[in-house]
Amino acid sequence: MNLDEFRVELDAWLDEHDAELRAEHEGVGTLEQQMAHLSQVKRLAYDAGWMRWGWPERVGGLGGSPLLRGYLGEALTTRDLVEPGIYSMTEVLAPTMIDYARPDLAAEMVPRLLRGDETWCQGFSEPGTGSNLGSLMCRAVEVDGAWRVNGQKVWTSLAQFAQRCVLLTRTGTPESAHRGITAMFVDMDTPGITVRPLRTMHGVEEFSEVFFDDVVVPLDRTLGDVGQGWAVAMDLLPYERSTALWHRGAYLHRRLSQLIEQAPEGALDPAAVGEVFCQLFAFRSRSLATQHRLDAGETLGAETSIDKVLLATVEQAVFDLALDAIPDELVLGDTGTGPRWRSEFLYSRAATIYGGSAEIQRNIIARRLLDLGADR
Ligand SMILES: Cc1cc2nc3c(=O)[nH]c(=O)nc-3n(C[C@H](O)[C@H](O)[C@H](O)COP(=O)(O)OP(=O)(O)OC[C@H]3O[C@@H](n4cnc5c(N)ncnc54)[C@H](O)[C@@H]3O)c2cc1C
Repeated sequence: MNLDEFRVELDAWLDEHDAELRAEHEGVGTLEQQMAHLSQVKRLAYDAGWMRWGWPERVGGLGGSPLLRGYLGEALTTRDLVEPGIYSMTEVLAPTMIDYARPDLAAEMVPRLLRGDETWCQGFSEPGTGSNLGSLMCRAVEVDGAWRVNGQKVWTSLAQFAQRCVLLTRTGTPESAHRGITAMFVDMDTPGITVRPLRTMHGVEEFSEVFFDDVVVPLDRTLGDVGQGWAVAMDLLPYERSTALWHRGAYLHRRLSQLIEQAPEGALDPAAVGEVFCQLFAFRSRSLATQHRLDAGETLGAETSIDKVLLATVEQAVFDLALDAIPDELVLGDTGTGPRWRSEFLYSRAATIYGGSAEIQRNIIARRLLDLGADR
């Protein structure tokens, strides 16, 4: 199916099934409500085939261009049917499984994620090793034909909902840095895993501390080769900055439009709106080019750091504009649209942190794209 046909047919299906796809809860809802609604939307979209387009047939997909996945997420987001942050975790983790898991494991597991039957999480960051992933400490040792994992992760989004985790562990010596890391796919109900949710400043227990205490992971759950976890991580992170960000851009476009509709007469400075619109347009142009590179089968890399810097900048700009235009509603509103604007304003502050901080993205751009020399 080509993109034009996909758009027309998907839009018609979304119109027809709007009532079934809508959330039952009012307003933002709790994270539990959002997760349940996300599963419902994914299941309906998967069973109707939409969620399978753009994914390889060997993992339950129907083939076709990744642009189809880009449009599906855009359409669901623009219609306020999904929250892009939790929806787009699929775009971050499924490609890694497809590229690095043994084929039969990927074929078994990926459809569960696409259909919303399962949630997966990404266990990379540790206390003290967010930006500096190469120094991670969570240790995996081979004992009696299995990995035995001990250590801690932190900021693991949706860990309390997750059935599986793409986990980075240290299998080399402590000094082996990025050369001694191994990635694995871990069942979250394995004995020895403790998940302790953390509350963010927007009041949601979105991420967690995850503790591993003698957790046994079969060797055939290794993703890629032993000691090659750095390559897995470096391939995953550009996915986090491609289709997932395209979906987020669609959501920002919608929220900016809603702000313009909602703001009282004269509350928005036209020049400020124009500036934010230009930033959003710049991001979307850049991200569109990234979607086409993905479609052409190119390997994404450091250049997606530019997409992330543009996205984080405009995300904060959209919600700064909202704070200027509807301050009472955003800061104090307890009913109507207030709680959602407030929650999103606060969450937008994290845009320059998650998926690699703004400073780290700029370091990557400086070192790897502009050849400006090593970190000092
Ligand atoms: C909402 C949210 C969701 C997240 N979800 C996940 C998840 O699901 N899985 C996961 O593994 N992680 C997740 N993270 C963690 C995220 O990847 C890290 O927070 C991020 O990489 C930064 O790491 P850190 O918090 O340890 O900060 P640090 O690395 O300690 O950085 C602190 C500050 O120092 C700056 N800094 C650090 N090193 C340098 C340098 N070399 N040059 C210049 N400045 C530097 C940083 O930019 C930052 O401002 C999430 C974070 C957030 C906010």
